[in-house]
Amino acid sequence: MGKKYVYVWNKNRVEGNSKMKDILGGKGANLAEMASLGLPVPPGFTISTEVCKYYWDNGRKFPEDLKSVVEEAMTELENVTGKKFGDNKNPLLVSVRSGAAVSMPGMMDTILNLGLNDESVEGLAKLTNNERFAWDSYRRFIQMFGDVALGIAHEKFEEALNEVKREKGVKQDLELDANDLKKVVELYKKLYKEEGKEFPQDPMKQLWIAIEAVFGSWNNPRAIKYRQINEMDKQGLLGTAVNVVAMVFGNMGEDSGTGVAFTRDPNTGEKKYYGEFLTNAQGEDVVAGIRTPKSLDELKSINPKTYNQLLEVMDKLEKHFRDMQDIEFTVEKGQLYMLQTRSGKRTAAAAVKIAVDMVKEGLISKQEAVMRVKPADIEKLLHPIFDSEELKNAQYIGKGLPASPGAATGKIVFSADDAEKLAKDGEKVILARPETSPEDVGGMNVAEGILTSRGGMTSHAAVVARGMGKTAVVGAEDIVIDLKNKVIKSNGVELKEGDWISIDGNEGKVYAGKIKTVRPEGLAGDISVLLEYADEVSVLGVRANADIPRDAKVAREFGAQGIGLCRTEHMFFGPERINKMRTMIVSKTEEQRKAALEQLLPFQRSDFKGLFEEMEGFSVTIRLLDPPLHEFVPESDEQIKEVAKMIGISEEELRSTVKDLEEFNPMMGHRGVRLAITYPEIAEMQTKAIILAAIDMIKEGKKVQPEIMIPLVGDVKELTILKESIKQIADELIKENNVDLEYKIGTMIEVPRACVVADQIGAEADFFSFGTNDLTQLGLGFSRDDYGKFIGDYIEKGIYEKDPFQQIDREGVGKLIKLALDGGRSTNPKLKVGICGEHGGDPDSIEFAHLVGLDYVSCSPYRVPVARLAAAQAAVNYKRGKKVNY
Ligand code: PEP
Ligand code: MG
Repeated sequence: MGKKYVYVWNKNRVEGNSKMKDILGGKGANLAEMASLGLPVPPGFTISTEVCKYYWDNGRKFPEDLKSVVEEAMTELENVTGKKFGDNKNPLLVSVRSGAAVSMPGMMDTILNLGLNDESVEGLAKLTNNERFAWDSYRRFIQMFGDVALGIAHEKFEEALNEVKREKGVKQDLELDANDLKKVVELYKKLYKEEGKEFPQDPMKQLWIAIEAVFGSWNNPRAIKYRQINEMDKQGLLGTAVNVVAMVFGNMGEDSGTGVAFTRDPNTGEKKYYGEFLTNAQGEDVVAGIRTPKSLDELKSINPKTYNQLLEVMDKLEKHFRDMQDIEFTVEKGQLYMLQTRSGKRTAAAAVKIAVDMVKEGLISKQEAVMRVKPADIEKLLHPIFDSEELKNAQYIGKGLPASPGAATGKIVFSADDAEKLAKDGEKVILARPETSPEDVGGMNVAEGILTSRGGMTSHAAVVARGMGKTAVVGAEDIVIDLKNKVIKSNGVELKEGDWISIDGNEGKVYAGKIKTVRPEGLAGDISVLLEYADEVSVLGVRANADIPRDAKVAREFGAQGIGLCRTEHMFFGPERINKMRTMIVSKTEEQRKAALEQLLPFQRSDFKGLFEEMEGFSVTIRLLDPPLHEFVPESDEQIKEVAKMIGISEEELRSTVKDLEEFNPMMGHRGVRLAITYPEIAEMQTKAIILAAIDMIKEGKKVQPEIMIPLVGDVKELTILKESIKQIADELIKENNVDLEYKIGTMIEVPRACVVADQIGAEADFFSFGTNDLTQLGLGFSRDDYGKFIGDYIEKGIYEKDPFQQIDREGVGKLIKLALDGGRSTNPKLKVGICGEHGGDPDSIEFAHLVGLDYVSCSPYRVPVARLAAAQAAVNYKRGKKVNY
C-alpha cells in the first residue's frame, strides 16, 4: 500500500475532518466535518493536495496507484447513491471541484454534471420526468467541460447560447425549453468541432480529464497571480485538492435552487442571516452574477421548512466552528444539501464587530478575538470617506450595491490592463466593468476602487474587493458601462475614459468628478473594545510620534500610551515660525543666534505645554533639534528677502551664508547632536522651554513626565557633554521654582557606531530610542531620500525581501539593534528601550521589537491602532526572546 491519496465521506463512513485542510483543502476537510456532524451533505471523496504536488513535481503525471483508488471510491459512491456512473437509465453525476488549504475564490476550476453523455441525458430525462432539467444539465456540463478542461473560450459558449435566445426572442436562460436546450447542445458540439476538440462520451474519460484540469488549474496565471498578491507562496501549500461529489440539482424546477449564505452579515458583522438564493439554478449562476439573486427571505416565503432547516444548520455550523461561516447550499425539490462551509471573508468592520460580539456571546476568548482581526483590517477602518463639503456639491449619477466600504476617487479605466498601466504611472484609477472575473484581479489590486453594473453582493467583484479592502460599488444597474465605446452613461451624464469618477462603498453611490477624501476621526466603539483586549494581551507599549498638540490628541484617541518622538524641528513649519527658524540657522554670530532663539522660546514652551496636556500622565519624549539643513535653509528669492530683512543683513550676504551652509550629504551633515555641540545655545533654549512647560503643568496640579532625547549620538562623550548642560539648566529651573519634577535624558540610537559602543552610552542614558530610519540609511548605506530609484530592482532580484525602510531588515539592522540592546542593558539594566522610526508602525517590525525585548514602539498617530493589534498578536504568537530569525 502506498500513500493514502483519497478520503471518502458518506452515510457509512467519513475519513477526513476539518483539521486536515493541508491535505484535503478547505472544502474537502469541511465537507467531511459536516458529514461527521450528521448534516445533509451529498456523498463524495477528496483526492488530496499531495497528489497535486506529485503531479507538478513529476512532469504532470499521477501516482501509479491513483487510478485504482479513484475507481474504488467511485464504486463506493455508486453503492451509497444507488446510481451508476455512465448508466443510461439512472446515471450517477458528479461535480469535480477544486479546493486548496487556503481559499482562493474563483481562482481555480469547477465542473458540474459530469457523467452525462448523449445517451444518459435521455435516461435522466425519463427518470426525472423532466426533460428540460436533463438538457439544461447537459448543456451546462458541455459548456463547463469545454471551458475548464479543454480551454474553449467561455464567451464562445455564451455566444451560442445567446444565438438560441435571440432566435426565440427571449432574454433569460430560464425561458428556454428542452428543445431550445437541445439546439444549444448542438451548437456547443459544433463549437467543439470548430475548435478542433472532442467531447468525450465516456464518463470515466470525462472524470480523468476533469481531475487533471483541476490539478492543472493550480498553476494557471490567475491562480499564480492571486497567490502572489496575497503573499501565499510562503505558506507551504501543496496544491489544490479535487473534490468529487455526487450531484444534487438546484435546476429541477421552482422547488429547487441554489444559494450562498453567511451566518452573519459579512459587510457590517451584524448578527443576522445573510444570503442570496436563485430558484431553478445551479451554483455557478449565483457566483457569476448572471441573474440577480433574491434574498434569503424569498426562500422563506417559497419554502419555509427548508428555510428553517437552513437556519438550524447555519447555527450549528457557527457554534461548531466558532466563527462566522460562509456556506453554499442547494435545494433539490425541497430537500436541503450543504455543499460547502468555510470561515467567511468579511470586511474589516465586520471582522472587528464579529470578534467583539463573539467574546460577548462567550463563543471565543479575548485572545482569540485579537487574533481574528488582521492589522491591515484596522488600517482599512481608518479608510477615507468623502469630504462632506465637497460631497454636497458633487454630481450624483447613480447607485449600486455597497459591496466594499470606503470612498474612492480616480480616473475611469475600462480594463484591468489599463488600470495596471496607469497605476504604474502613478495615476489614481477606478476600474469600471459590467462585471469582473478572476482575470481582472491584477487591475483590481492597483485600482482605488471598483465599479460594476451587474452582479450581487456575492459576485466576484464584491467578494474580491472586500478581501482586498478596496472600495467597491457593484450591480449599479442604471449605470451603463459601455466597454466598446469606453463611456459610462447614467441619468443623462456621459463620462469618458480618463474622466474622474467617485464611488462611495458605504452607500453604493456613484458621483461624476473628483471628490476629496478625508480620513475618519477617532475609533468607533467595537474597534476600541477590540484594542482594549489587545492592550490586555500585549507586552510592548505603543506610543505615537507627534509634533503638535493636535496630533497628540489624535494619538490619544487612538490609544497611544505617550509620545515616543516629538521632532521639534517640525514645530517650526508654520508660516510665522519658519523664517525665525531660518534666521536662527543662518545666524553668523552667537548673538544673532541667541536673539533668534529668544524669539523661538515662547513658541516652544507653549507647544510643549500643549503636548504635555494632551498626554497628561504619560511619557513625552522630546527630541532636541535635528534639522537636516537642506530642509531648512532659505531658498527662494522671497524667503531670502524676508530672512535678510529679519536679521538686518543684505540679501547678498545672506546668499553667501546659505552657500557656505550647503552640504554634499545633508543627511550626514551638521545635524542632530552635532548642531548642539557646535551651538550649545540651541539645546539650552530647548531645555529651558521643556522644563518651563513641565513646571507650568506642575503648578497647575497636572502630571507630567518629560523625556529629553538627543539625536544622532555616535559617541558617549556627545551625550555626556549635552547631559551636563541639560542637567544644569533643568535643575536650576526646578530649584528656582521650587517644584518636584522628574525628567529623563536619553538618546536616539541611529548611528551604527552607537550600537557598537552602546554599553558606554547605556551607562549614561535613561533610555534608548532606535531611530530606525537613520539606522537603516546608515546601516545599509542607502540614502533615505534617493533609495526609491533602485529599491525596486533590489526587491525584484530578491536581495531584500521588502523595502527595508518599511519593514526592519532583521538580519542587518535587526542585529545592530540587538547588539545595542545587549550593550545598553549590560551597563544599565533599567534602560528603557523603544523604536521611533517609521518601522514602529509596521506589523512585522513590531513583531521583531517584541521578540528582541524592546519596551515600546512609537509610530504616527494613525498607525497606533494597527500597532496595538500587532503588538498583541506578537505576544500571543511568540514568547519574548524566542524565534528571532536573524
Ligand atoms: C529615525 O531616524 O528613525 C528618526 C526617528 O528620526 P528622523 O526620521 O527624524 O531622522
Ligand atoms: Mg533620525
